[in-house]
Amino acid sequence: MKEFTIKTSKREQLVDITQQVNEIVAELANTQDLRAILVFVPHATCALVVNENYDEAVQDDVLEALRKIAPKGVWKHDAIDDNGDAHVKAALVGPSIVLPVEQGRLKLGTWQSLALAEFDGPRERRVLLIPLGR
Ligand code: ZN
Repeated sequence: MKEFTIKTSKREQLVDITQQVNEIVAELANTQDLRAILVFVPHATCALVVNENYDEAVQDDVLEALRKIAPKGVWKHDAIDDNGDAHVKAALVGPSIVLPVEQGRLKLGTWQSLALAEFDGPRERRVLLIPLGR
């Protein structure tokens, strides 16, 4: 298993982590027949998203859609640490994703990238990578 950390800078944002993951994928592929990589965030208020990397408005739209589904300030958990919306968003999007690997690189579509979706930043987040071989 490999791991890296990233620092987010806003309460809610999508941070592109494709390059960091690709660097580790390339390193892992040097020593094994890597077919896929499982990426996981060990956190309850962030998640992983694969989506459009070209028009930044898409990232805003994804965050806005999640805000509509899970608005701030209406959750039981807010009594504990006022971030019930962040937990609901993270639960909806999910903490892990499996991505195909080909020739030592993520095999993403032309317009796809992998982003960490921060819902309760700014924070330092860990990203774990588990190689999946043949
Ligand atoms: Zn909480």
